[in-house]
Amino acid sequence: GAMSFGKSKARLINKDKNKITFKDVAGVDEAKDEVFELVDFLKNPKKFQKLGARIPKGILMVGAPGTGKTLLAKAIAGEAEAGFFTISGSDFVEMFVGVGASRVRDMFEQARKSTPCLVFIDEIDAVGRHRGHGLGGGNDEREQTLNALLVEMDGFDSQEGVIIVAATNRADVLDPALLRPGRFDRRITVSLPDVRGREAILKVHAKKVKLAKDVDLSVIARGTPGYSGAELANLLNEAALLAAIKNKKRIRMTELEEARDKVRWGRERRSLAMSEEDKTRTAWHEAGHAVLNVLLKHCHPLHKVTIIPRGQSLGSTMSLPKEDVLNHHKLQLLDTICMTMGGRIAEEVYSGDISSGAAGDIQQATKMARAMVTQFGMSAELGMVQYGGDNEYVFLGRDMAQAKDYSEDTAQLIDEEVKRIINAAYDRAKQNITDNQDKVKAVAEALKEHETLDASQVEEIVKTGTFSKPNGGSDNKKGMTGAQASTPASGDVSDKEPPETDSGLGPNSPAPAPA
Ligand code: ADP
Ligand code: ZN
Repeated sequence: GAMSFGKSKARLINKDKNKITFKDVAGVDEAKDEVFELVDFLKNPKKFQKLGARIPKGILMVGAPGTGKTLLAKAIAGEAEAGFFTISGSDFVEMFVGVGASRVRDMFEQARKSTPCLVFIDEIDAVGRHRGHGLGGGNDEREQTLNALLVEMDGFDSQEGVIIVAATNRADVLDPALLRPGRFDRRITVSLPDVRGREAILKVHAKKVKLAKDVDLSVIARGTPGYSGAELANLLNEAALLAAIKNKKRIRMTELEEARDKVRWGRERRSLAMSEEDKTRTAWHEAGHAVLNVLLKHCHPLHKVTIIPRGQSLGSTMSLPKEDVLNHHKLQLLDTICMTMGGRIAEEVYSGDISSGAAGDIQQATKMARAMVTQFGMSAELGMVQYGGDNEYVFLGRDMAQAKDYSEDTAQLIDEEVKRIINAAYDRAKQNITDNQDKVKAVAEALKEHETLDASQVEEIVKTGTFSKPNGGSDNKKGMTGAQASTPASGDVSDKEPPETDSGLGPNSPAPAPA
């Protein structure tokens, strides 16, 4: 039901075509509460006008991709029976100076003709970045576009029945001029859903598919910390596809679990031809992680370990936070870094050689150690000081121009401290693996034979040194698991980046549990 306008590139979804309402949006109750009144503004601007109230013109929605910002904006329009214009900030950014600016003017003109309506500008940061800090100095086109947007925002009157909603996940890079009163002066945060939110979102989307009776969505919600609404919607759809491929009438837990892993870490690549040598090396690598995971007290509990390739990785060790991770603790971070070292060390024990398969582990461990030192105040040496702001290593423009807020001496201290943490974790991991070499070997051998082991199987080997229960493995019924990280394929440095971990270390993210 979308129409395209020649010049502006904005797409209009007419009010009779937009069926989205608030009941389609779940798990983001705070954000929903905040936008409730916007419906009233759109439906009944006169009511506010009479009282002399100033209706907000611009609302900025801030949140990670897939948290439902577009959906929420659509629901506002749907509830208010208003038209819905959508355009992406990147559509404004053109090669030719002046084109973006004329598109902005055109879009506002269109919007005025179709009141009441809501204009949704996705990725506002593409136009709205801080001026004068672009890569290579100024960017005339972008600045002209931004100026046009500011002029239009100032020029229209929200009594006309137009509300502008802009979305971004990087509010910190926006030009302050955009955030002034009368422009995008309302900010609504759309967060990743917590466990109850995830269940609610799953329920909304489960209405569209057929689930088996024994499917318990709360179990899936518990096993997906850090998942966005979009990922949860995708999970159900992937599970439905899997069930159809298997000729099942209904979606079972097995399909949901498989879909969960696929949505986050890419599809299993059972067909990837792996040499015996690669398989054995991967088995040792993962065995190193898995044995440490079981031995170290403060890691998130092991869920399963596998040498079935998935996405970019040849194998993975998955651990499961018991609940949403709201905080990171020092002992947990140190043990996790230590576990991360286990893959490389086990490889070396096995062959006396090492591979590039630990690149992802190294990246993740470094990130964690650096955050401990520069953001979490967990290094006695550096103290409870934040170094480098929290957006030090973000992309483009402003960040590159921004000077470090600490001295060269401090930079050196930070590097030393990060290295000290990692080296200590490495030594501890090496000691543990050396002391338990026979167990690592037994896990590696079991992995080579069965490809996937669940936690109880690894625990048994670590406890008794032998493996007596070859069933279970990948088909376990324990339900969904939490965090997982993976090892990039070894032996091919040229085109395999270490996996991009959004796991970051934000308060809402699941603890990174490296493989
Ligand atoms: P964003 O704009 O924040 O990137 P979207 O609104 O485009 O996210 O989300 C993409 C899809 O994911 C939606 O169309 C919907 O199917 C699903 N989704 C995301 N968030 C939610 C939510 N809170 N409730 C229900 N579904 C959601
Ligand atoms: Zn690894």
